[in-house]
Amino acid sequence: MSLAICPGSFDPITLGHLNIIRRSAQIFDKVIVCIMVNSSKTKPMFTINERVEMVRKVVGRFPNVEVDTSDGLLAEYAKKYDGAVVVKGMRAASDFEYEFQMNLINKKINPGLETMFLTASEKYTFLSSSVVREMASYGADLTGFVPYEIIDEVKEKAKLWRQ
Ligand code: ADP
Repeated sequence: MSLAICPGSFDPITLGHLNIIRRSAQIFDKVIVCIMVNSSKTKPMFTINERVEMVRKVVGRFPNVEVDTSDGLLAEYAKKYDGAVVVKGMRAASDFEYEFQMNLINKKINPGLETMFLTASEKYTFLSSSVVREMASYGADLTGFVPYEIIDEVKEKAKLWRQ
């Protein structure tokens, strides 16, 4: 059985993330969306539990997608699943440099771990969670940025988050 791990902070999940998850679910038998507790991102908008709930709500439509969390390194997490492949989205050249370096580090920790990159859909190349947080904090319309199921939740949270 082929298995993909789609890691990220998903703070919050965007339509760009969802596009990568959906395409992974078409290629692999099973996909685990792994929400990483990223200590370098100082002020998260959503708690890990809130992110899990939101991602679950959105990926419920895909029968072969599961949600998990990790507060460790991705390369360590992936050791639990023999033969799993990490799938990431590639938006621009700036993503490439970071991802290339991360991939080399991951290989040192877990030499058998492969990472595959799916090029971002053209309409989402500009989209990131930080763009969504910024827009939400100004009360902007989030249609076309985040899945419709979570729009209200993101808007509500943004009101509190900005204070
Ligand atoms: P962000 O950069 O939005 O904060 P994450 O750290 O949660 O996102 O990223 C998780 C993964 O999703 C990364 O592989 C990232 O490249 C990918 N990703 C994020 N936004 C998009 C997008 N708009 N299109 C394609 N892939 C994306």
